[in-house]
Amino acid sequence: MTDLALPWDNTFTAELPADPIEGPSLRQVTAAAFSRVAPTGVAAPEMIAWAPEVAKLLGISTQQMETPEMLEALAGNRELPGMETFAMNYGGHQFGNWAGQLGDGRAIALGELLTPDGSHQMLQLKGAGPTPYSRRADGRAVLRSSVREYLCSEAMHFLGVATTRALSLVRTGDDVVRDMFYDGNSAPEPGAIVCRVAPSFIRFGTFELPASRGDHDTLRALADYTIRHHFADLPDASAPTVETYLAWFDRICQTTAQLMIDWMRVGFVHGVMNTDNLSVHGVTIDYGPYGWLEDFDPGWTPNTTDAHMKRYQYGNQPGIAQWNLVRLANAIYPLIEDVAPLQATLDRFADAFTDGNRQAWGQKLGFSDASTDDDELFESLGQLLMAAETDMPIFYRRLSQVDLGSLGETIPAPLLDAYYQPDQVTPDLAGKVLGWLRQWAQRVDGSPDVELMDSVNPKYVLRNYIAQIVIDAATEGDYSVLAEVHNVLRDPYGEQPGNERWAERRPEWARSRPGCSMLSCSS
Ligand code: AMP
Ligand code: MG
Repeated sequence: MTDLALPWDNTFTAELPADPIEGPSLRQVTAAAFSRVAPTGVAAPEMIAWAPEVAKLLGISTQQMETPEMLEALAGNRELPGMETFAMNYGGHQFGNWAGQLGDGRAIALGELLTPDGSHQMLQLKGAGPTPYSRRADGRAVLRSSVREYLCSEAMHFLGVATTRALSLVRTGDDVVRDMFYDGNSAPEPGAIVCRVAPSFIRFGTFELPASRGDHDTLRALADYTIRHHFADLPDASAPTVETYLAWFDRICQTTAQLMIDWMRVGFVHGVMNTDNLSVHGVTIDYGPYGWLEDFDPGWTPNTTDAHMKRYQYGNQPGIAQWNLVRLANAIYPLIEDVAPLQATLDRFADAFTDGNRQAWGQKLGFSDASTDDDELFESLGQLLMAAETDMPIFYRRLSQVDLGSLGETIPAPLLDAYYQPDQVTPDLAGKVLGWLRQWAQRVDGSPDVELMDSVNPKYVLRNYIAQIVIDAATEGDYSVLAEVHNVLRDPYGEQPGNERWAERRPEWARSRPGCSMLSCSS
């Protein structure tokens, strides 16, 4: 038998206050960072996919991954020696309103592995059954949302966007009942469990909850733990001072700014940027009704639950990140008791985002010295992309193929594939596009850095309809498409001749199909 002894080192449960009650009974949990609870077993687990890169990062061998015992562990049916299972306690602002205690309602952590590179990584099963935080829900996840989380976390990693990772995707053999559009049509769907991996799953809401209760002891314990283990390079990390807390908040502001820059650059829309869904590590977390911009529309959100307010639309994401950082600043204020430096740090977030974002959009156009003088060039291109239904990934990717030395009277051929409605490509639009291309040519002296462009404008992203094609096949038991798409997404900036089918603009059938252009939180 393959030895499944792994170097578990469970600092979170060892060093933070535990809920004295164990098990999944629903409750308000005070003065505790987590509750001990075991996954609820599933009927017939089947390994649909696992990511060798993530296993390697964790120091788990292929041989170990392929054992029946590992499958059982990743399905929540078996505890391996050294695991300590628990659900985290946290609160959050949902859609702008304080929601009180939320917690891991369907995620159960297995513990932390000490990895070959010396870091700690927490493993967490999403969809592993009820916890004290499940409220009225079942603690489970459906196959469609699990496929989406598994694939998108890995896609984001290879795009160079900070993210939680996914080790495995297990089909449970149990059905889960969901009302996909909250319209009274409940139906059974196949269930699944993703094993997510991150240094920790500590969120902004982790600090908001004890702060909201005036529980400064738990607040301080959580902050000190987080800094000690995850921000150990900060001054006095082992015995934090006010300066340490401020430096910590500054770091979170800066990594969050970088995350927003990256989301905007690749056209990712998270969909539910509640404060419980923002990680203190500045990584993308909690893939739910996310989506990818296809036709460029800053007002687009994939989340039907947010269709009215559109709070989390693409163009709002940086501002919402800042709003969430203000909530975090309020939560940790008792550790600092001084508004001015917190405000200054928030201002630095805005500056870091604005400057970094400008550089990113400059790079997308093949120059690395963008300044405020270029804002008009970016803005006028945005207006052009909105003037006709234009595919953002294709348009930007193809710009590097435009021969700026021989612009004619019509839109250059490489760009034509970006247009969804041929009848919108009028002479008027062509004239404007050509005018803009000449302006751009002037900015880059006729030769943009095309290598730079191709390294920041992905050719392959997890378009919403592609995720749906994978889901449709997987639901029927065909996991080959999942493997194929996963493989394509490992090289998003490569040309990959032969794989063009996965870089095509959204087909007409996907325009109004649920899951392709609109998603609910039901998952
Ligand atoms: P989300 O916005 O999807 O990250 O979830 C918000 C809250 O609802 C979190 O506390 C989740 O753990 C909880 N939740 C979502 N779906 C379920 C479910 N099926 N069972 C239990 N809790 C859930
Ligand atoms: Mg969440």
